[in-house]
Amino acid sequence: RAHMARGLPKQKPIAGVKEVIVVASGKGGVGKSTTAVNLALGLMANDQSKAVGLLDADVYGPSVPKLMNLRGNPELTDNNLMRPLVNFGIPCMSMGFLVEDTAPIVWRGLMVMSAIEKLLRQVDWGFLDYLVIDMPPGTGDVQLSVTQNIPIAGAVIVSTPQDIALLDARRGAEMFRKVNVPVLGLVQNMSVFQCPQCNHQTHIFGTDGVKELARTLGVEVLGDIPLHLNIRETSDMGRPVVVSSPQSPEAEAYRRVATAV
Ligand code: ADP
Repeated sequence: RAHMARGLPKQKPIAGVKEVIVVASGKGGVGKSTTAVNLALGLMANDQSKAVGLLDADVYGPSVPKLMNLRGNPELTDNNLMRPLVNFGIPCMSMGFLVEDTAPIVWRGLMVMSAIEKLLRQVDWGFLDYLVIDMPPGTGDVQLSVTQNIPIAGAVIVSTPQDIALLDARRGAEMFRKVNVPVLGLVQNMSVFQCPQCNHQTHIFGTDGVKELARTLGVEVLGDIPLHLNIRETSDMGRPVVVSSPQSPEAEAYRRVATAV
């Protein structure tokens, strides 16, 4: 209702879903998908009574199948809706379930829009407290289409502290504001690397750039995730760090993001 009042009559909630949280980034490769997956698992770890789902809207480069160790074609329900695939207690839907692993995803704009529409409307989520959406990087058609089609509780923007990433993260934040999606805050990723041999800390991409950007934008820093081998390895194994090493400081860092959103 509030959204209709703001003049977005096309917005319609996803059936069964209470709150949608989108995870976005300005640039690719900054850790957006890794954050989205661990945020979804963190929301569930923080409160087992919450039902959490994960939608991979990165139609050009879907990573959720690999990160959540899921493959296969979704079954159809009697109503012709796709049933999400489930791992670690999280129902997931991704374009990656609908196309071959190695198939190049070369699409015209209209096809992308109809794929997004399908992922948003033709999935049987059951009941979810939170649906985390892993957005494609940048500020393009897909982002606009998602924000125009469904009400979104808020956006989490992931960036490294590197200038070029920050510039694009800022554009991302401004885009969400323009379309009335609240920016819940920023996640600083890969700011510090601690050598496992000597414990020396190196700020490979800069130190506090994301914190400065958050100040400029007047939003919170929801978390500060170190550049850590454990995060990369567990991601590649399809066993995200929040479930595979729940005691680690890295998992704790993601759970803190989940608490802050
Ligand atoms: P994006 O979704 O922004 O393109 P990904 O989440 O796919 O980025 O991450 C890109 C690569 O960086 C992946 O190989 C991932 O495992 C790795 N990665 C992401 N965050 C971290 C981190 N904090 N420490 C180590 N590796 C990371």
